[in-house]
Amino acid sequence: MNVADSERAATRLRSAGYELTDSSEGADVLIFNTCSVREKAERKVFQRINHVRRERAGKQPLIGIMGCVAQLEGRAVFDSSPPVRFVIGTGATDRIPELLERVEDGEERVSDLGIRQETEVWDVSPVERHSKHIAFVPVIEGCNKFCTYCIVPYSRGRERSRTAAEIVTEVRHLSDLGYKEVQLIGQNVNSYRPKAVDGLEKFSGATPFSKLLRAVASTGIPRIKFTTSFPRDFHPDIVGAIEENENLCNWIHLPVQTGSNRVLRAMRRGHQIEDYWKHVETIKNARRRISLTSDIIVGFPCETAEDFADTLGLVERCRFDGLYIFKYSERKGTPAARLTDSVSASEKASRFITLERLQTSVQEGIYNSYVGSEVTVLVEGASARASVDMTGHTACNKVVNFRGTSGLVGRLVRVRVTEAKPHSLYGEFLGAM
Ligand code: SAH
Ligand code: SF4
Repeated sequence: MNVADSERAATRLRSAGYELTDSSEGADVLIFNTCSVREKAERKVFQRINHVRRERAGKQPLIGIMGCVAQLEGRAVFDSSPPVRFVIGTGATDRIPELLERVEDGEERVSDLGIRQETEVWDVSPVERHSKHIAFVPVIEGCNKFCTYCIVPYSRGRERSRTAAEIVTEVRHLSDLGYKEVQLIGQNVNSYRPKAVDGLEKFSGATPFSKLLRAVASTGIPRIKFTTSFPRDFHPDIVGAIEENENLCNWIHLPVQTGSNRVLRAMRRGHQIEDYWKHVETIKNARRRISLTSDIIVGFPCETAEDFADTLGLVERCRFDGLYIFKYSERKGTPAARLTDSVSASEKASRFITLERLQTSVQEGIYNSYVGSEVTVLVEGASARASVDMTGHTACNKVVNFRGTSGLVGRLVRVRVTEAKPHSLYGEFLGAM
């Protein structure tokens, strides 16, 4: 979501006459896009700002921050980080040029924490997209769920869905430009609920989101991924839509957070583990093999050794294709921050490692099962490790590296998997599609 916001900010700035640079050196203006989901990310931005200031010998750049930290801290940033001259909240991305103009006109401290205007058009120039082949398309912003540990509803405000007509038009346009993949994004994409059915009338589906999936699939763009799905709003028809449409990728990211009903309740996730099992069963029984990935928080306040054992049991049973593990990070202003953080830092670290080990062994089994099979890869560029290797993702979102040339970038290619690593596959190029 932050990458998508940066693309949008860049679009607005360029059309206002600013030129974007590749490095911070020599830039007249620096805008930091920030994340506040965990404390570490929040701290990092202020370290970076200080670093830039120290590095710069001559004229200091105008420094601003945007994103979640900007929204939450507001004008307090001016005192805690004096080099910052402007603060752009999460709803003010489109107004960056006007705000910057005020700073350039000499106004000392400029901030905008207002909401996005209904009249603002959600467009991003292709020049500013992070890739020429894969595009992020936000379908819903914000979050109404208020899980007790999470800052997002405070930093991103209430849920707002784009109209399907607007989304489908954007995807068609991206397809015409040669994009091979769109990723529909949102804090919880499957909570998609536009004010009007505009654009969805002729599509079947049990929920607005599964209708939207079918509508986007009908554009014919080769690949559609979507993330993140929220368990409580998960409807089996999502799997139905994937089964019906080859271009809806066989990957679902469905964060569970914990394997314990007691902790789930304390997190106020609004569902029980048994409900999660049902979704996993639906996903695993699909006609096409669907990859399943998840997020888990270890060390939520009150998580006992028994609760954690339930989480291990869940991970063993679900056999996730990938898992993001986070140590609980207290976020000021959330209901969980009022609970006693009962799990010590060393216990959190130890649970993290135990869970990571288990996941690695599960993942090893899954990745090994790909050896010998053929997969389709969207080639994204040279691999970071070896420049003779190209890298890309499968539809099921696995990283695949193979010996190839840069001429293949942006193409869908067939690769035979010859080797499995813990987080990626290695294979031989068979041919472009
Ligand atoms: N809307 C998605 C998740 C968005 S935040 C969902 O509810 O599933 C991405 C992930 O960050 C979460 O799934 C959670 O695992 C993690 N996270 C959020 N708040 C956190 C906190 N306070 N401490 C640690 N991890 C957190
Ligand atoms: Fe945060 Fe919960 Fe909303 Fe996800 S659903 S963004 S975890 S409040």
